[in-house]
Amino acid sequence: MVIPSFIIPSGLKLSKAVLISQDPGLLIVAGSAQKRSACPCCGKRSKSVHGFYDRSLADLPVSGREVKVILRVRKLFCKNRKCSRKVFTERFVDQIKPYGRCFSRSAGLVRSVGTELGGNKGAALCKVIGYPISSSTVLRTLKGIIVSVRTLTSGTIGVDDWAFKKGRNYGTIIVDLINKEVIGLLAARKPTRLQIG
Ligand SMILES: [Zn+2]
Repeated sequence: MVIPSFIIPSGLKLSKAVLISQDPGLLIVAGSAQKRSACPCCGKRSKSVHGFYDRSLADLPVSGREVKVILRVRKLFCKNRKCSRKVFTERFVDQIKPYGRCFSRSAGLVRSVGTELGGNKGAALCKVIGYPISSSTVLRTLKGIIVSVRTLTSGTIGVDDWAFKKGRNYGTIIVDLINKEVIGLLAARKPTRLQIG
């Protein structure tokens, strides 16, 4: 089956793709069809298969419905005798990060929404458009942005808290809502003096 290019990230080569319409959205089951992948330790490319495993990945919604991809990927042998890594998991340069649970373009959507709206409202909007995630996920995605060091802000900032490790630890994120930049991350929610502007 040929999956329309707007559903699957461009450049991602799939084999035996099956698209299933189910509640609450679309499920795509497919295998990776890229021939080789580079070892993350030494960079040597390999196509020698050790085994397979399935990755579950969220993708951008289609017509307001969730899209989930079950992607069968390979574990490959590294053939470089000098490399310390004997087996590694197949890499997808731009589309999927190692250990990621969504496509990179989905994280881009969450970053944009989170920067505009913060954790709670961002999560609410994502649910409406067919990408249900928690406010903690929105804020964790924002936390992945490199924080720029600025001495001046637009003067309009948003502050949000989130809990992780089942509520035992708290963090605070500060976003410049006009410049759309993360300007501060506080690991612990304690009284902290933060100089802005
Ligand atoms: Zn290697």
